[in-house]
Amino acid sequence: MKLLSAIVPCYNEEENVADFYQEFIKNESFFREKEVELELWYINDGSKDRTAREVKKLIERDRRVHLLSFSRNFGKEAALYAGMEKAKGDFVVFLDADLQDPPSLLPEMYGYLEQGYDSVATRRVTRKGEPPIRSFFARMFYRLMKKFSKTEIMDGARDYRLMTRQVVDAILSMPEYNRFSKGIFGWVGFETKWLEFENIERKKGETKWSFWKLFIYSLEGITAFSTVPLAFAAFMGVVFCVAAFVFIVFIIVRKLLFGDPTSGWPSLVCIISLISGVQLFCLGIVGQYLAKTYMEVKRRPIYLVKEEI
Ligand code: UDP
Ligand code: MG
Repeated sequence: MKLLSAIVPCYNEEENVADFYQEFIKNESFFREKEVELELWYINDGSKDRTAREVKKLIERDRRVHLLSFSRNFGKEAALYAGMEKAKGDFVVFLDADLQDPPSLLPEMYGYLEQGYDSVATRRVTRKGEPPIRSFFARMFYRLMKKFSKTEIMDGARDYRLMTRQVVDAILSMPEYNRFSKGIFGWVGFETKWLEFENIERKKGETKWSFWKLFIYSLEGITAFSTVPLAFAAFMGVVFCVAAFVFIVFIIVRKLLFGDPTSGWPSLVCIISLISGVQLFCLGIVGQYLAKTYMEVKRRPIYLVKEEI
């Protein structure tokens, strides 16, 4: 018998825990025919509601359900990492608790693994039900990433992914603190089949991602998988040096030819504020990378466990 581990990150998902289980377990007969056993890991990412209690109710009924509770909220990335460390399956799949990643797709996904793919990833082709500015910024982000990073990052990719043990071990071998899964999946490579589906709106509860949180996360993605912004800082330095040199020549020549009609401090003020702005901006970019490096060298654990059942 093979084993398939499902990893479900949960942050305040008390209403969804049982519904998810119901949906997921519908695949039971399909996988029994394939001689694949199931296990289900709910990763309770420091929920403040009754998520843990809901999971424990399930555990009493079904021994294949497991719970890992963090000591506080460490974020979805940490939850996925913890799940991979705990899962013993020959196959591992990530699903959201809110049923936005339909478990009914699993048989089809498994079919592709049987055909020899190493992982099956999903992307949503519509962003129905999402605020328009959010979609706009999301698209901007993916376009930027495409230019900035050698790692392939798919537009609309979800974390809903079924992988073989080999891929999971590859991902586990990347113990970085600043985790950006969409980049990590692309970075490890392997043969990936992409499935597309229409966006499904969250069943119950509300999204845990504010616009601001997503914005910070996108910066994380850029710094984690590209050093182009650093090169940009150097590039701006060169541009302004060349410009300054041209100005110097221009002023000297003018002085020699026409005497000294140098006038106006307004132009000076503009130039100074422009250049100091660019300097601070570039310093900020360097600071971003420094901060990420700082967090990385601290070697803090990615998550802390409070309870495991
Ligand atoms: N999640 C988590 N920790 C967090 C935020 C979210 O474990 O800090 C989980 C959440 O419970 C859900 C999944 O990550 O199962 C996706 O979150 P959500 O549905 O809020 O994001 P969206 O689908 O709106 O992008
Ligand atoms: Mg969701």
